[in-house]
Amino acid sequence: MKAHAGSTPLHTRIFLGLLVGAVAGALAQVTLGPDHAGLQHFVKNVAQPVGQIFLRMIFMIVVPLLFSALVLGVSEIGDARRVGRVGLRSLLMTVLLSGTAVGLGLIAVNAVRPGAGIDPARRDRLIALYADTGAARKNIETAQEAKSAAQTLVEIVPQNPLKEAVEALTGGLLPFMFFALVFGLALSSIETEKAAPIKALLEGLLAVSLKVIEYAMRLAPFGVCGLIFSTTALLGVDALLALGRYVVLVLAALALHLFGTYSIVLRLIARRDPLTFFRQIQTVMLTAFATSSSNATLPTALQAAHEEVKLPRDISTFVLTVGATANQNGTALFEGITIIFLAQFFGVELTVAQQFLVMLLAIVAGIGTAGVPGGAWPMIAILLVRLGVPAESIGIVLGIDRILDMSRTVLNVTGDLTIAACVSAMEQSPAEAHQQALA
Ligand code: ASP
Repeated sequence: MKAHAGSTPLHTRIFLGLLVGAVAGALAQVTLGPDHAGLQHFVKNVAQPVGQIFLRMIFMIVVPLLFSALVLGVSEIGDARRVGRVGLRSLLMTVLLSGTAVGLGLIAVNAVRPGAGIDPARRDRLIALYADTGAARKNIETAQEAKSAAQTLVEIVPQNPLKEAVEALTGGLLPFMFFALVFGLALSSIETEKAAPIKALLEGLLAVSLKVIEYAMRLAPFGVCGLIFSTTALLGVDALLALGRYVVLVLAALALHLFGTYSIVLRLIARRDPLTFFRQIQTVMLTAFATSSSNATLPTALQAAHEEVKLPRDISTFVLTVGATANQNGTALFEGITIIFLAQFFGVELTVAQQFLVMLLAIVAGIGTAGVPGGAWPMIAILLVRLGVPAESIGIVLGIDRILDMSRTVLNVTGDLTIAACVSAMEQSPAEAHQQALA
């Protein structure tokens, strides 16, 4: 996704779309009232369809995007297993840090409940509107049907992955991801010459999918404007207040994970002073913040790892390259909070089991998320539908996403460097560690 299209950066235009939609919607709400027939007609026949077209452009490419990104991500980690101990240790650190990140996000969002407090009567009106245009109502009902734990587990393994792909938007997501994980693992363990053409094909498919997302994002300023207009016109300022609480919560949780979790891990496992470490990698953090892209930050990260942090080149190259696509802590944390926030917003109460599912999916989603600006969104869209939350709700948060994207990308990249430092320390001989301590 390019940041620029035309002369104004895309993210600025999306933000403007949000602003125009929110102000116009709130004005319409105050002056005409949410029951005004003309306003309802406009929302239903103009604002809503514009938003829908934008969302459908994203949905239509989600299955190929997810499949190629996940298989490639996993096969890289699978290759890593061949690299041996370093790979295994990086993998364990990735799961540990991503798990902590999502856990932290889920605790925060459940404690603060930024999406609560929307007037239920008004909310029902909004849901009714979405139910007219999609299968939201049906999904909400399905989400509330409880299944036994054993059955849920069995159904993760698909009988027919093609059928799950077709039904990815209505419940087939997890089994389809499971298929992609197994496929990626198998791909990494067959002969290199046989795997090469499949990998090349998937790399092409991934590039094409990202291009389609880029096209969709060109519609984002209009789509977001339409979606936020519908929301504020029917809900009023309640919606905007909830959005403010959500932004503050995401930033606070990201800061806690960055300075809290990473510092502890750096001190205990990498045996480094966290402040010195953050100072050494400050250019990397700034680059991540400015570009919103882990991939674009990779060259700077590689250089800093070697020249500033003085990590062994082989380990850091390996961990950072794989991590740029496969380890996305900030994104995982963000996805957890966003999904639960939107569920709260729409009054969809998620059970503990469903929250656990969100946690699992957000960790796996970290692997399947492309390291580009807004890479998290296709995944969030599909997860929302899976949980019975109207995907149109994305319009509420997408407009202010740039600042959150910049911030979570800092964590994604810092997480890679933290893992590289930890794995390097684990690989050090006691004599080397002693020398480093004296230095
Ligand atoms: N922008 C993030 C990255 O490149 C991905 C995302 O969370 O959207 O790491």
